[in-house]
Amino acid sequence: MPIATVNPTTGETEKVFEPDSGAQVEAKLAAAQRAFALYRTSSFEERAHLTTAAAELLEGELPAIARVLTTEMGKTFASAKGEVAKCGAALRWFAEHAQSLLADELVSTSATESRVRYEPMGPVLAVMPWNFPMWQVMRFAAPGLMAGNVGLLKHASNVPQTALLIEDVFRRAGFPPGAFQTLLISSQHVAEVIADERVRAVTLTGSEGAGRSVAEAAGRAIKKSVLELGGSDPFVVLPSADLDRAVAVGVQARVQNNGQSCIAAKRFIVHRAVYDAFEEAFTETMRGLVVGDPMDRGTDVGPLATAQGRDDVQGQVEDARAQGAAVLCGGRRAEGPGFFYLPTVIAGITPSMRVDAEEVFAPVALLYKADDAADALRMANDSRFGLGASVWTGEDDERRRFVEGLDAGMVFVNAMVASTVELPFGGTKHSGYGRELSGLGIKEFCEAKSVWIA
Ligand code: NAP
Repeated sequence: MPIATVNPTTGETEKVFEPDSGAQVEAKLAAAQRAFALYRTSSFEERAHLTTAAAELLEGELPAIARVLTTEMGKTFASAKGEVAKCGAALRWFAEHAQSLLADELVSTSATESRVRYEPMGPVLAVMPWNFPMWQVMRFAAPGLMAGNVGLLKHASNVPQTALLIEDVFRRAGFPPGAFQTLLISSQHVAEVIADERVRAVTLTGSEGAGRSVAEAAGRAIKKSVLELGGSDPFVVLPSADLDRAVAVGVQARVQNNGQSCIAAKRFIVHRAVYDAFEEAFTETMRGLVVGDPMDRGTDVGPLATAQGRDDVQGQVEDARAQGAAVLCGGRRAEGPGFFYLPTVIAGITPSMRVDAEEVFAPVALLYKADDAADALRMANDSRFGLGASVWTGEDDERRRFVEGLDAGMVFVNAMVASTVELPFGGTKHSGYGRELSGLGIKEFCEAKSVWIA
């Protein structure tokens, strides 16, 4: 895959980048090692100062940065601005809290003193996806840099300008040379970087296939890995729910980021008592969404990020249609240039359909009818993914039952699944392992050192 900006709104290639040569990668690895030797000795106050400076740069240049995100991957300008602001807030949160999150833990033993220290690991490689091209990177960079690690970013090939922009922000914030670098390499070279002795750990956010390759390479090299992979999140609606709100939030949860979010609601599992009302209102709202130029204020849904992504979803929807599913709206690409796919609702899903088993990374909602709450819970868990889950109910017993019974990394009740810096983010089953954000996230790339003083 070429390393290039292809504007998904027009389909035109705007800028192509030369991949780093072997010598350039070697120089960056050496710089990372040098930077770590110095940076690991910095105090939390010094790191917080640099991290806050990075937040100030993002906030001060927010519209210009957001425009780059929209140009490279097609998210609406409004959501790109929200993403950049969220990155600034995460940098500030870790700047403020890292010291207390990583404070030594005194442990009572027979020693005079015993405690656990949290120390940085070293250069960490981050292999990142294009869908939240800045937020995904900050989820690793903000805690990592505050913990004293240094970062190497292998970003998705279609967002090179965003990758270089993030590197530039950290450089201008005053981080030492080599503390955060972008590697312009193809995915074939990732395993070599993981194998390099100077790299201490790897984090990947992406598809299952990429997760397997990265985890294999990390396993061979005996290195820590964190995997944040795909999802097919259930959105369960029970009769006691506020139906109007469930419809409005459900549509938002499906089409956010033009339908390309790992935690988008993908499978709408609705109790039969309210199914017909939900289907009608939900389909009506999806049909009414405005598809268009992501820079326009009135646009709800912009293009998919790549031609490949659009062709993939087209194949999934055609497969469902051919097997008898009812396509209630959309179900095709939009006319004209760019990688647009119309908001789509599909009912009558059966287990043999690709959409049932695979992640659908587009504004395509799948509707399922459940007999009762027990059936809804069974269907929600009937997926090889286990990232997030959203449940809509007005009853305490149902809430407890779903919070305890859902096999997922994150459960949101009467709200859409979202990432928030204070809470751990991650999944179960094929959605990956490890956690980002919060106190758990910052510790993923720290060594826990036990200290015993006799
Ligand atoms: P992807 O194709 O897996 O790419 C993700 C990153 O991995 C890119 O940098 C890609 O580089 C690299 N990559 C791909 N194959 C690789 C391999 N065999 N070895 C090493 N690196 C490899 O995923 P995507 O299409 O960019 O992103 C969408 C996926 O990410 C969806 O499945 C989505 O659910 C998931 N995601 C998960 C989370 C989460 O937190 N759980 C968050 C966001 C997205 P190239 O671009 O050069 O191929």
